[in-house]
Amino acid sequence: MEPNPRPASDPEQAKLEVQREYASEYRARHRGSRRVAPEELPLFQDDPLREEKLSRRETEWKKVIVCRLCGFKAGRLINHLKVFHRIELSDGSEATATFIANNYRKRFGYNKRQPLSCAELREKYSQKLKGRNSRRRWQGRPSVGQGTRFKKKRAATPSGIHRGVEARKEWGTSQQAKQRMSASRKGRPNIKNRKRRNATGEVVATASDWQRARLRLAGKELSQIAKKLELDDESVRQSLHRMRFPPGRPCCFFRGEAITHKHLLAHFEDLKYVRNLRSIEFRANANGKELTVREASELLGVPEPWIYAHTRQSSKDSIPHSKTERGALTFLKDQLLDYAQDRRHGVSSFLTTSKLETELAGRLGISARRVYGFVAHPESYKNPLPITLGERLLSSIASLREEFRQLGSTAKGGRPKTLLPSEGKELPGKYDTLKSDLNLMLSWAERLDDGVKLEEVGKWMCEQSGLGRLQVLLFWPSLHEKLSVICERARNRDHGGRLGAAERSKEILCQEYRISPRQLARAVTLPSKTLIAA
Ligand SMILES: [Zn+2]
Repeated sequence: MEPNPRPASDPEQAKLEVQREYASEYRARHRGSRRVAPEELPLFQDDPLREEKLSRRETEWKKVIVCRLCGFKAGRLINHLKVFHRIELSDGSEATATFIANNYRKRFGYNKRQPLSCAELREKYSQKLKGRNSRRRWQGRPSVGQGTRFKKKRAATPSGIHRGVEARKEWGTSQQAKQRMSASRKGRPNIKNRKRRNATGEVVATASDWQRARLRLAGKELSQIAKKLELDDESVRQSLHRMRFPPGRPCCFFRGEAITHKHLLAHFEDLKYVRNLRSIEFRANANGKELTVREASELLGVPEPWIYAHTRQSSKDSIPHSKTERGALTFLKDQLLDYAQDRRHGVSSFLTTSKLETELAGRLGISARRVYGFVAHPESYKNPLPITLGERLLSSIASLREEFRQLGSTAKGGRPKTLLPSEGKELPGKYDTLKSDLNLMLSWAERLDDGVKLEEVGKWMCEQSGLGRLQVLLFWPSLHEKLSVICERARNRDHGGRLGAAERSKEILCQEYRISPRQLARAVTLPSKTLIAA
């Protein structure tokens, strides 16, 4: 704190001083928040729709529009422009408010009739006008305001030209209009690029998105697809990108996803469970909830001194524990299990995963060092796994699942477990996404007049995936053959679209994971944690 320059003898004056300081600070802060940061202003100047985009995340952007000249935030801009930027916007001569506003719109890429106010006000006035005009129509009176916009036919000038065409002639296509057009075309193929001339100059149709997608799902390189379909590489790359295929080299697809390091990591965890944790869980069932040092050492399969060493304050790798009043160590069983489960590469040689890493390396035919890289630094692997590694991983997963099923039940007894821990975790999510995709597909199929073939379903999937509506269906190649049958069944039914999607996805998941409907119902409704422990 700065020492007060005035004598502190007068308490009244000191109080006033504090108040004044506070007021000026408050004003400075307030003034700051009414403007966007200077480094942010160029972003606004480049993009007339920036507030709209920002408001999708933060709703307060619906309440302001930013002045592109100085960064001032306002509800309506016109008064601000008239007062602060009149000289700049009127080109030297005395000008009306309309002239100033139009000049501003033109300069920053707005449409000619774009209101210069925030989204909330625009919505409010639009609702007001709609209400007023609907009352007027009811009374048999003509609409007021920009009522032509709501007429059924496209608005035309008295001389018969479309107003839109006329505006574009006069105003040019604004940046705002261009952005809106490209947004409405996002995910749809560019038909212009789809025309190809053969040697004699005839226009021939080129390969559909589905043909490209199919080859990619089969693991073909871009150049191979391009050669087969007589296209150029770039066209294939663009269409695959639009359909949300992962970029780069071809990869394997499994249950609606590209195989990535996440699958490898999940497989590693499963392997750890089958080899180590399962036996620890076995022993855990025999004991009570609170354990002594000896019981803990038996449970984890380590000597007692190791336990003591890992409960000291100096330990970098401490086991969760607590002490009784008399100073004895106690452990909670669940915490110990979690500790063992999270363990990857501890300081001590006990409970390390290096053996498992070597085993996994052998299963996948890669070096143990590389497996360690995947396990210890998963964040550095962004792209899907190469196709050969992906295939080996899939066969390794399949063989581990077989082995797991042969193991029989736990010490508690009961039915042997059939789902690997990672499968149990992913099932609820898979069920939800598959259900929503099938729902979309069935409501599409029900509206069709003719029979559905795989070709049409494929084309539909490609389009929907491009629009971002489809999540897993396109990337689940083993399902594709069944889809047309499912569509056909839905088409021949009179009702039950929604129910149908849930039924079908249950059916598919039961086949895919080889479990009974009851097991599936349990896996989907129960949280995954209890499923593993049960
Ligand atoms: Zn301004």
